[in-house]
Amino acid sequence: MAFHPAIAFRPRTRQRLSSAAAFESDRMFCVECGADGPTYEGLCARCFGKKHRVVEPPAFLDAVRCQSCGALRFKGGWSKTDLDLAIPQLLRETVPRRPPYERVNFTHGAREEDPNNFLLTVKAVGRHADLEIVQDFHARLRIRPGICETCQKQRGRYYEGILQVRGDGRGLTPKELREVRTFVAARVDRADDPTSFVSRIEEEHGGLDFYVSTNALGRNLAREISETFGGSVSSSPKLFGQRGGKELYRVTSLVRLSALAIGDVVRLKDSIAEVTAVGPFVVLRDLVSGEERRFKPRDVRGARRLDAERFESRIGRLPSGERTAVHPESGEERPLGSKGPAPDRAVVVWTRDEAFLSALPPDPSKG
Ligand SMILES: [Zn+2]
Ligand SMILES: [Zn+2]
Repeated sequence: MAFHPAIAFRPRTRQRLSSAAAFESDRMFCVECGADGPTYEGLCARCFGKKHRVVEPPAFLDAVRCQSCGALRFKGGWSKTDLDLAIPQLLRETVPRRPPYERVNFTHGAREEDPNNFLLTVKAVGRHADLEIVQDFHARLRIRPGICETCQKQRGRYYEGILQVRGDGRGLTPKELREVRTFVAARVDRADDPTSFVSRIEEEHGGLDFYVSTNALGRNLAREISETFGGSVSSSPKLFGQRGGKELYRVTSLVRLSALAIGDVVRLKDSIAEVTAVGPFVVLRDLVSGEERRFKPRDVRGARRLDAERFESRIGRLPSGERTAVHPESGEERPLGSKGPAPDRAVVVWTRDEAFLSALPPDPSKG
């Protein structure tokens, strides 16, 4: 924004000829323009003001106002102050005086453009010795919504909906508990919406309960968690009261995270498969045919996990032509149950009585 510093000066006290110092000063002339009169560091007041600007005017002044109670945030904390009284304080906090001025005072006019934007006309009066230099500038005051600490605490007890995250027929792993918490915190943070918050988190029945400020927030988080971590969503509204003739519902949104994890070896109906992806869909790769199929999480609830290891192994061939996988440590052999070509060495899934070619890397514990 363009600004035009109007520089004026007002000697605070009249120079008195009877004062020796003043007499000395009166006899000086400005080294810049040659004007006779009192000088300050060799300059007349006009040239001094041109050389030394009182402040570096900012284009914007940002303020945060509590959406709930209207308090404004200052360096020292939140305070319920009229905007008109708050502006000089905001100016003092955010627009530093430049040397050699010992003090600066602000006066201002504010024109409201909309409830969150004001055009300020500011007069900064800098004081140096007995000199007053006036600098005018314009700046836009922008008010952003926030929540003060007091209102935050009151809201800490408030919730409208509950988001429950559970494992499908199992407890969440410590890693899942950690990741889901981080995920929710990041989402709420990023939304930067003071009406969306989590007032409390509880660990319940091997899962997590988030008490959320709005039902919409709970529903959105449930959908996003199921898409990211793999799982199914359901919700149940419960009437809990009325406000202004309107019925109020608490919605409990429930995410059930898939029972399966990448790398699990499962038996589903007649097939044996490894899990290659979880997310909105679970992908099972048939270990015999090598074909992959996508399932909705609820459609693999019947899958039974098998004990299996995954490691790199040599592929051998019996005189009968049957292929085998050879255990790298024990030298034990298992018939290879997979169809199709096999290289001399391959990552295999090793079950109790068979081995299969795997599309996944070896288990990290096996190096
Ligand atoms: Zn001058
Ligand atoms: Zn407040």
